[in-house]
Amino acid sequence: MLRRQTRKPADDPSPEATKPRGKAKANAAAAAAGALRPALPPEAIEEMFRRFAAVLPEPKGELEYVNAYTLLVAVVLSAQATDTGVNKATRALFQTVDTPAKMVALGEEKLRDHIRTIGLYRAKAKNVIALSQDLIDHHGGKVPETREELESLAGVGRKTANVVLNIAFGQPTIAVDTHLFRVANRTGLAPGKNPLQVELALEKAVPARYARHAHHWLILHGRYVCKALKPACPTCLVRDICLFEHKTAGEV
Ligand code: SF4
Repeated sequence: MLRRQTRKPADDPSPEATKPRGKAKANAAAAAAGALRPALPPEAIEEMFRRFAAVLPEPKGELEYVNAYTLLVAVVLSAQATDTGVNKATRALFQTVDTPAKMVALGEEKLRDHIRTIGLYRAKAKNVIALSQDLIDHHGGKVPETREELESLAGVGRKTANVVLNIAFGQPTIAVDTHLFRVANRTGLAPGKNPLQVELALEKAVPARYARHAHHWLILHGRYVCKALKPACPTCLVRDICLFEHKTAGEV
């Protein structure tokens, strides 16, 4: 039986995981400012999500997968990596390897060959084989639908569990990655000093009818509009609502 054999590579909301590095300095600054800033009032939050929903009623994530199992694997591989990079590595793999049994049969060495373009690929390959074996041994080869069971799998932390619960099982969970952390703090939507604080604040702040898609709206907003170094404030959909003190002006 293989359980929790390796260290989680990145899905870790600990202070260590959120130490400023490169672009993350902008996030840390946003967080520091957010801790002092009043949160947006409920009517402003309602209006913010009304606009997100009007522009993109059914937002989707950018990771490619063919079922709940391959989604779980893709999310584990995406820690400290881009969705585009993960998709390049997994597109061919998931055509033939789409169950825990097939992954275990493939083996760690061959899996490493498929994903060697992804950061931390050695640890991730070890985790994927271990979690696949665990799914076979303890979950009938299926991806479990509770946070506790998901977090017991190798390489799966709170953020990964939240993504899987939201996308695969339609639960209103909100995974806080670097983009959500920044947007929640800058705008005043859900200020917090670490990802868990922000997640719990978002759970309280986001109106129930928007909770299902909140993760995707905020991640897309952070990735393409409210970027770490040069947020596109002049063309931002929620510029008049956002409380960020350093909005950009003119060309971005
Ligand atoms: S106005 Fe600027 S800082 Fe505020 S959410 Fe939009 S892009 Fe981000």
